[in-house]
Amino acid sequence: MPEQIYARYLKPGEVLFREGEAGDDAYIVEKGEIEISIDLPTGKKVIAELGKGEIIGEMSLIADAPRSATAIASVESELLVLKRDRLLKPIEAADPIMRLMIQMIVDRLRDAPRWMREGDTTSPEMSKARQKAFDEVRDLALRRIQIEGEMRQAIEAPELELHYQPIIDLKSGILAGYEALMRWTHPERGFVSPGEFIPLAEETGMIVEMGRWALETGLRDHLVMLDAFKKAFPDKKPPFVSVNVSGRQLFELSEIDVMRSIIENSGVDPQQIKLEITESLMVHDADHAAVALDKLKELGILLAIDDFGTGYSSLSYLHRFPFDALKIDRAFVVNMAKDEASKKLVHAIAGMAIDLELDIVAEGIEEQHEFDTLAGFGCHYGQGFFMARPSPISNNIDLIENATTW
Ligand code: C2E
Ligand code: CA
Ligand code: CA
Repeated sequence: MPEQIYARYLKPGEVLFREGEAGDDAYIVEKGEIEISIDLPTGKKVIAELGKGEIIGEMSLIADAPRSATAIASVESELLVLKRDRLLKPIEAADPIMRLMIQMIVDRLRDAPRWMREGDTTSPEMSKARQKAFDEVRDLALRRIQIEGEMRQAIEAPELELHYQPIIDLKSGILAGYEALMRWTHPERGFVSPGEFIPLAEETGMIVEMGRWALETGLRDHLVMLDAFKKAFPDKKPPFVSVNVSGRQLFELSEIDVMRSIIENSGVDPQQIKLEITESLMVHDADHAAVALDKLKELGILLAIDDFGTGYSSLSYLHRFPFDALKIDRAFVVNMAKDEASKKLVHAIAGMAIDLELDIVAEGIEEQHEFDTLAGFGCHYGQGFFMARPSPISNNIDLIENATTW
């Protein structure tokens, strides 16, 4: 795929584009200043000076019309180039009302130079409200592009890391697997919580690329931990690695082929790979979800439904989709001691999952009594700070080499 975002440098006086030319790229000013002007019978009229963070040339792309003004670098400048597809694809994919609004705003803005060209000084400038609406849309778009750039760098730098949290067999107390959890240390902002960046990655679509990275890295690390496990527990069942998969990753069926090749090239036994999927996918488009999950299942891997009990959980998911395991959300586990209803609910979910021959993983175990209660309910596995927090691979290897049990 060609690079869709790259830098372009301009010398003072250099023309970026001229009025009337066809437009293929839009630009974001990184450094310097770009003068935007139109030709009037009375001569050149400068209509704007655009500096850092401002976007140029997007309107002719969106309106699919020639440039309505000329852009020249006033000083030495650096621009981020946005290819047509990068700008238009998300707009085409946006919901129809959003698309219409973008089109309207652009049409109105493109009119502005014409009022000036016709010398109609009585025409209103863009009304303040309209300007404000435009600024908001533009700021949002710029913020997205900026985040996307930061995340791309996070993957390449790499500022991303996977931590692993042990998942314990509640009967034997032995390690049964580990969940890979993404960690991002931003060079300036420091540690960014997944609660903050995962939703942004989902919104921008970057989660697809980050998810590929997590799967690839998680499987590679798994082989190292598996090796240590086989030495420490020679006759125990090998652990599984759980990797989180966003609904966005399963949106395009072609992405499942990408996951297939990552899995096949990893050399990991598919029976040791568990993908954790939250229920939002099943809620938004059950038919698509069924196809996507069946396709994943063909790889011979295990599927877990994550955060079960939050949101829109429906028991019918358990039936309709090919899940092997169910993760009971932390919220229920936390409330078990305080609230008899939560305890009963966990007991009931556990009983039902056992009947359906699903493995159950209880999340967020922080206390001994929670461990004991859940084990008593027949939950197979547990995960939580009481046993171990998510930590780097080296830590997990230490735990394994010391033959730690809980
Ligand atoms: P999750 O999949 O439900 O992951 C479990 C979260 O619970 C983790 O939060 C973990 O640190 C936390 N946790 C585990 N045990 C305890 C406990 O005893 N007490 C408390 N208070 N928390 C516990 P984390 O690492 O902050 O991740 C948050 C969420 O971000 C994850 O929730 C998951 O939805 C998402 N996420 C993380 N990594 C990835 C990834 O690689 N891909 C995708 N798509 N999502 C990810
Ligand atoms: Ca999870
Ligand atoms: Ca969860």
